[in-house]
Amino acid sequence: MADEQAHLVAVIGAGPAGLFATRALAALGARVVLINRDVKPGGLAEYGIFLNKYKMKGGLRRQFQKILSDPRVTYLGHVTVAERGDLTVPDLAGMGFDALVFAIGAQGTKYLGIEGERLPSVYHAKDLVYHYNRLPPFSERPFPMGRRVAIVGVGNVMVDIANYCAHFCDVDEVIAVARRGPHEKAYDDREFEDVEDAFDHALYREELERVRPRLEAAGQSTDELLTALATRGEPSPRARTRLRFRFLASPRRVIAEGGRVVGLEVEETRLERKGDRVAAVGTGLTSVIPCDTVVFAVGDRVDEHAGLPYRDGLYLTVPGDDPAAPYQVLDENAGKARPGVYVVGWARKASDGVVGRARLDAETGIKHVAAFLAGRPKRPLADAERTVEALRRTLAERGAVVVDYPAVQRLEAAERARASADKVEEFKFASDREMLEQLRG
Ligand SMILES: Cc1cc2nc3c(=O)[nH]c(=O)nc-3n(C[C@H](O)[C@H](O)[C@H](O)COP(=O)(O)OP(=O)(O)OC[C@H]3O[C@@H](n4cnc5c(N)ncnc54)[C@H](O)[C@@H]3O)c2cc1C
Repeated sequence: MADEQAHLVAVIGAGPAGLFATRALAALGARVVLINRDVKPGGLAEYGIFLNKYKMKGGLRRQFQKILSDPRVTYLGHVTVAERGDLTVPDLAGMGFDALVFAIGAQGTKYLGIEGERLPSVYHAKDLVYHYNRLPPFSERPFPMGRRVAIVGVGNVMVDIANYCAHFCDVDEVIAVARRGPHEKAYDDREFEDVEDAFDHALYREELERVRPRLEAAGQSTDELLTALATRGEPSPRARTRLRFRFLASPRRVIAEGGRVVGLEVEETRLERKGDRVAAVGTGLTSVIPCDTVVFAVGDRVDEHAGLPYRDGLYLTVPGDDPAAPYQVLDENAGKARPGVYVVGWARKASDGVVGRARLDAETGIKHVAAFLAGRPKRPLADAERTVEALRRTLAERGAVVVDYPAVQRLEAAERARASADKVEEFKFASDREMLEQLRG
């Protein structure tokens, strides 16, 4: 309708948090521009959730499709907002949006600061996960896996990487390395079922006996774990890969000989109760876990070059008890909120939970955005459209090749056609170049 009025909001990042934020904003009647670094939307729902969880990915894609087909939503894919991006935060702030919602996930790498962390054959989980899920440019780089892979961390991402090693690579042994003990494991048992066939019970029992004195010194039972193990199905005798654990081991350095990784040096730890927490404390004793590949699955940090105020792996938000505060980006000079600038999802709390959690966080954030918008006048929809057009012009002038949602749909149709021709469950173009060529063709 010619006289319709709306607020105009830019959401940056089209992972689950950005998409569900977009849905909540559109439901409020806002006109939304959704800007995404990757050509295709979905973020880690597309490029993180494990390779063969087709049903889960398909269900999410259908929800996302509905959000992106809303006429109030404009998707601008293959556009990065960053200090050196196609757009900067000040660019967007100067374009006249009523609010900016950053949902750009946690794209930074959490380095432990140990020697050898950047050697070849040492990977950070996110990069490897992006690689096997075919996200450019990670899909274009080789990530060779050796025969003995040490994975640092014992969360669900470790399970995914172990699954990849056991079922998609030629790996003899996977060693999951934990600073603390078996009682502090962070993965879900349901997720672990995916690697149960490779889980070596005899080696697990052996490891529990090795750490028994240190667990008991912290008041933890080993027998409980052994009893629980006895109720689990036996591993498959046909399993190609052995999955074992190394508990109470804190990584100290990656050891290489002639440029090739040969081991992970760890410091033995013991457990100490600190309030509700059980902490790992170094004992000074070191040992070496022989391996030729190391994967750090220890969570991520946000991208410090996105152009938002940053400290210690997180974007700075407003301190204080106001429920809106943790969603409001801080203006460091003024010591208060940057009006209308918000952060949601993994961009707000890096590596925090599953898609459902990201959705809830986005929806909560948008409630605070809605309260902010309620104090601002709406504008005629025609004005909002002019701003969207001006944004498109700016991007074109800067040479950005923007992929809109109809183009994404054409791309997805081409990928489905390839998958069906190749008789495979899924096909993804491996580079932005291939995707853009497909669209031009
Ligand atoms: C290995 C792994 C496996 C997982 N498996 C599951 C699972 O099985 N089930 C489940 O429910 N959850 C799973 N999760 C968790 C789930 O993926 C996250 O909860 C969720 O994706 C977080 O959403 P987000 O939108 O905050 O971030 P992301 O999904 O990371 O999305 C961020 C988006 O922002 C875009 N972006 C980044 N930087 C910029 C920029 N500078 N400018 C513009 N756009 C930018 C990216 O292109 C991306 O689309 C998994 C996570 C990982 C890492």
